[in-house]
Amino acid sequence: MKGDLLYEGKAKKVFKVENNDTHLILSYKNDATAFNGEKKASFQGKGRYNNLISSKVFEYLHGKGVTSHFERCLNDTEQLVQRTTIIPLEVVVRNIAAGSITRRLDFEEKTPFNPPLVELFYKNDELGDPLINDDHALRLTDITEQELQQVKKDALAVNQHLQTFFKEVGLAIADFKLEFGRNVDGAIVLSDEVSPDTCRLWDITTGEKMDKDVFREGTGDLLQVYDNILKRLEAAK
Ligand code: UDP
Repeated sequence: MKGDLLYEGKAKKVFKVENNDTHLILSYKNDATAFNGEKKASFQGKGRYNNLISSKVFEYLHGKGVTSHFERCLNDTEQLVQRTTIIPLEVVVRNIAAGSITRRLDFEEKTPFNPPLVELFYKNDELGDPLINDDHALRLTDITEQELQQVKKDALAVNQHLQTFFKEVGLAIADFKLEFGRNVDGAIVLSDEVSPDTCRLWDITTGEKMDKDVFREGTGDLLQVYDNILKRLEAAK
């Protein structure tokens, strides 16, 4: 069933599906990178956590009517997805200030954003994924004005769902990054992953950071934290 390797990224490998042009297999790796690839490490089992956590998130979003590339989880580290062409934009939604916005605009960490902020970054390793505005996005990608407005609306709707989803397991979602892709029909759908690699998740009671920041900042055990998140999600109904 699994075909040739199509592409290898920092956190996942993408495989073709034999005799199938409409689907792909995402295989989650154990590698972690931060600071535009400058900090690297491998954690045995990380791929499994991100695959299983991201699968649960996409299943939940599907139940809420959010269309995405996700079809199903295949095994511990792999999932079947619709083939999409990723639009090179990172759509970041922020509920609470953390990370780059605290450095770029000097917001104090934990400053709440209500309504949430949406930011666009251009997915380009050579340029270091710069912050861009809507006009840049229209010139740098094939997205149309109408599609871009829809993507931003969809990202805010996903935010509402993710806030509910994680609150039920005692986690606040400070911010997260989404990617969108164009499927074989030309429609834009939510793609990539939603995991503790791509979200900032803070324990509601203790404020403890329970995401990739423990690796970025060197403050904790990434595997222990990811295991804790998966266990909470598995224990939830
Ligand atoms: N993010 C991501 N991939 C990236 C950059 C950011 O998944 O290449 C996520 C990150 O985990 C956080 C949110 O997007 O949840 C906002 O990231 P930020 O702009 O603060 O950048 P950072 O300081 O994390 O590099």
